[in-house]
Amino acid sequence: MARLLLHACCGPCSLEPVRSLMEEGYEPTICWTNPNIAPVAEHGLRLATLLDWARDVAHLDVIIADDDRRTWERTVAPHGFDRPARCRACYAQRLEEACRMAVAEGFTCISTTLAVSPYQLFETCTEELVRLAETYGLTPVVRDFRPLYPDATRISRELGMYRQNYCGCRFSAAEAQIERQRARDAHKVQKIPGHMG
Ligand code: SF4
Repeated sequence: MARLLLHACCGPCSLEPVRSLMEEGYEPTICWTNPNIAPVAEHGLRLATLLDWARDVAHLDVIIADDDRRTWERTVAPHGFDRPARCRACYAQRLEEACRMAVAEGFTCISTTLAVSPYQLFETCTEELVRLAETYGLTPVVRDFRPLYPDATRISRELGMYRQNYCGCRFSAAEAQIERQRARDAHKVQKIPGHMG
């Protein structure tokens, strides 16, 4: 079995990638490094949810790597609402820390649970994973887990896991809020009798 360090963004997004990678014969260990998540209480809640699941359900080890918020504020936050640039920088910081930890702990393979969410920028994330894995002499295990997202949603609900409604940073919280309001407004317009839009 190949030992693989799996960067995990949260508990619910870990369910299906872990199952799928184990079916392929990998032996995953979870790595937490997510300095993007705000506010601090939300960060703690997501980490606690992941740790509870890893201990009680998956029986997997979790390595808690550095959550360098100062670097995130210096290198990611200045991109503001420029989502492509912001998310690339955010993936790069987290995946680089995971790669650094993988080398330190003797892993040869690296992957990320970010590849399960249809809300992530999959191609950008994959580019950063491949680039950083090569830089650190690791094998990037690139998988498109997105078709597994509905199962991850269902199972995490059945397990009663905490499920967040935004990606993690304060910008994504604002963007998600706007999207929800747009959806509510569109719903209201559809209900107006005689509306042809
Ligand atoms: S939207 Fe998500 S991936 Fe993008 S910068 Fe914010 S926390 Fe990072």
